[in-house]
Amino acid sequence: MAKLLEGKPIAEKIKEEIKQQIQSLGKKPVLASIMVGENAGAEAYVRSQKKTAEGLGIEYQFHKLGQDTKEDAFIDFIEKLNADKSIDGIIIQMPLPAQIEYKKISQFIAPEKDVEGLHPFNIGRIVFGKANILPCTAASVMELLNSTGLDLYGREVVIVGHSEIVGKPLSLLLLDKFATVTVCHIGTSKAGKLEEHVRGAEILIVAVGKAGLIKGEWIKEGAVVIDVGINRIGDKIVGDVEFEGAEKRASYITPVPGGVGPLTVTMLMRNLIEAVKLKNRGAEK
Ligand code: NAD
Repeated sequence: MAKLLEGKPIAEKIKEEIKQQIQSLGKKPVLASIMVGENAGAEAYVRSQKKTAEGLGIEYQFHKLGQDTKEDAFIDFIEKLNADKSIDGIIIQMPLPAQIEYKKISQFIAPEKDVEGLHPFNIGRIVFGKANILPCTAASVMELLNSTGLDLYGREVVIVGHSEIVGKPLSLLLLDKFATVTVCHIGTSKAGKLEEHVRGAEILIVAVGKAGLIKGEWIKEGAVVIDVGINRIGDKIVGDVEFEGAEKRASYITPVPGGVGPLTVTMLMRNLIEAVKLKNRGAEK
């Protein structure tokens, strides 16, 4: 039976480190959060971010713009926050209304304030193995893997899902650890090859958003399984991996909820501290 890889204890440890680091920064870090329009889910997420930030001694500055905000006006707003020297990090809450394209506007955040780690500058640094600020979900997965103590060198890693926030950055981070990385996606499934790849995985990371996509019997004996997926089934939240079948075969497995999720907000705060430290030492580019 697999050991549970829970995010909370790791998050608590990192939060303690963050608290200590804040004391040596010489200022209270400030995180600016922008939300456009009304969304109950995003508001709940904002409340949880605010609580985590304030619990660590971070100032959480919340900005709410109207549902009909035009893209240009939004970019102007971001640029105002970029120019404000008191602000250390900027985060844009999802979802955005249809008239605002996230991929376009996120590039207007100054890279040194991009605490979500999604600006092309920060993504580009991952390619060179020089990342300072990592996408929060990918960083969470790396922390979970790290907590197993497993040496990634030469391991067969299969990532299912190739999004910009999870699969793509993770593939680069794992390559840097000399893992052998296979990235699967919808094309892999359409070609009928998903099961074959998953069966060969010593480490399996799944970030798709389809409940039950990965069958329990596909899991290799002793594999480490990190399930990033979040799916609401009635009043339950489940991942992308059939948990009951998988936990009988895996050596470690993340619960959903309780695995990756509790770590992502902590990674955001760690990125904010990193941003302040980089500013303090005049980041080499
Ligand atoms: P996305 O929606 O941007 O991309 C989905 C990926 O899944 C794509 O690579 C697509 O090709 C692949 N895919 C779709 N159908 C597939 C199939 N049948 N077989 C194989 N691959 C398939 O993904 P995202 O934004 O990375 O989110 C993925 C999941 O992770 C979602 O459930 C999301 O809610 C969750 N998520 C969780 C956290 C967290 O903190 N736990 C953070 C981010 C995302």
